[in-house]
Amino acid sequence: MNKETEIIVAGSGPNGLAAAILLAAEGYPVTVLEAADTVGGGTRTQELTLPGFRHDVCSAIHPLGAASPFLSRLPLAEYGLEWIYPEAALAHPFDDGTAALLYQDLKQTAGSLDPSDRRPYQQLMEPLLGSWEELAEEVLAPIHFPKHPLVMARFGTLALRSATGLARSQFRGERAAALFAGLSAHSFLPLERPGSAAFGLILGLLGHVNGWPVAKGGSAAIPTALVAHLESLGGRIRTATPLRSVENCSPNAVFILDLTPRQALKIAGSRFDAEYRRRLEEYRYGPGIFKIDWALSGPIPWTAPGCRRAATVHLGGTLDEIAASEREVWQGKPPERPFVLVAQQSVCDPTRAPEGKHTGWAYCHVPNGSIFDMTDRIEAQIERFAPGFADLILARNTRDTAEIEAYNENFVGGDINGGVQDLGQIVARPVPGLHPYATSDRNIFLCSASTPPGGGVHGMCGYHAARCALERLRHG
Ligand SMILES: Cc1cc2nc3c(=O)[nH]c(=O)nc-3n(C[C@H](O)[C@H](O)[C@H](O)COP(=O)(O)OP(=O)(O)OC[C@H]3O[C@@H](n4cnc5c(N)ncnc54)[C@H](O)[C@@H]3O)c2cc1C
Repeated sequence: MNKETEIIVAGSGPNGLAAAILLAAEGYPVTVLEAADTVGGGTRTQELTLPGFRHDVCSAIHPLGAASPFLSRLPLAEYGLEWIYPEAALAHPFDDGTAALLYQDLKQTAGSLDPSDRRPYQQLMEPLLGSWEELAEEVLAPIHFPKHPLVMARFGTLALRSATGLARSQFRGERAAALFAGLSAHSFLPLERPGSAAFGLILGLLGHVNGWPVAKGGSAAIPTALVAHLESLGGRIRTATPLRSVENCSPNAVFILDLTPRQALKIAGSRFDAEYRRRLEEYRYGPGIFKIDWALSGPIPWTAPGCRRAATVHLGGTLDEIAASEREVWQGKPPERPFVLVAQQSVCDPTRAPEGKHTGWAYCHVPNGSIFDMTDRIEAQIERFAPGFADLILARNTRDTAEIEAYNENFVGGDINGGVQDLGQIVARPVPGLHPYATSDRNIFLCSASTPPGGGVHGMCGYHAARCALERLRHG
């Protein structure tokens, strides 16, 4: 194939745009087709409640975006992307009115934990932090023979454990264990499940490496900058143009699908062989989320003062409580006392709300496809750590899993990670193999969060998928 080959990217999420940029930079004619009226997939910003309140419809907090080996190499600041770093990456409040805080500084973080856990926390994180760049190269990539086997061995010994097992073996007090449980709950896995500790380690490390920033003005600044860069390389975008089938397109075109297996089957299934189709049909989706955005008349009145220093707050109390909430989700029950992830972007980014006012963003995990209304349960958890919160609510917007999927078909049953991220599926996504981005059709590739390294705004799935496609384009 030569550089005349038309490349069609379906979907303008961070992964679709990352793939498009790499291919356009290599001189290929690239067109991105986006089903929705605006670009961005899980990185859009809208006035969901009242005029002047800019809410992140999906992603809000970007430790992976800022640290992404691919995105951080692009000149996105030139196109207006500015990361804002709150003083602390994360706050995790307790019922006694205090909070554990994840700061970039290890010692400062340890200082917010029980005295008995200060050294163990530093001893856990310090060696991994020292080899972060090597570790990132290994874990933000498809399965491969490790380039840094010692680093991977050290990480793997810890990461393959369950979050509860690792936390209980490392820490004696409640605070460090709870902080680690909250970080690990981003896996959407039961915290007793092997491999759930990996998420806690990576997200904790990212807090120390880089912090957990928000994008100034809203997450939409990310795709806006990516699109501007893509266009500067000659790439084109067509919004409100879903790719319905690959059959009606040029037979020589190469497709990069920023879609999960379910949609890929719909759009391109007829081009896949029976074995590949069967494997995509077996792909597993995970729990969903229930989300709320609030317009608030003031900042959230946290009892623990530390919570005002962070843009992200994890609500769920102790490790046992968080583990119980995640277990219930996997048992098919909307949790009674959910683990709630709160973002308060306007605390560090005043452009999000009219002067003196604030935005609030939160979600909790629920069973896939659940339409149970979690509003009262989520707000009760906030009220528990911030009495008086309810009095500040000027307006709210809620979305259950069906509404989340209706907004973006990639969020199947409300699953925001493009599929379960357990040990079986985090590396073998969407199917086992050394080239997970390639399909059984040599001209069709997958690049969404359903490929390694999985969910989140980092563009690394798109980057690796584009490299895989380039390999085929160059060598056939
Ligand atoms: C409520 C919520 C909160 C989140 N919070 C965070 C967070 O704080 N930090 C973080 O890192 N991640 C977060 N995420 C996850 C993150 O948004 C996703 O993992 C990420 O967006 C996945 O990127 P993607 O490119 O794979 O797909 P997506 O971003 O889902 O993009 C896919 C795009 O494809 C389009 N599309 C679908 N079908 C077609 C078709 N047939 N033709 C053309 N286009 C099509 C869709 O409209 C969409 O624009 C959150 C997600 C949600 C929903």
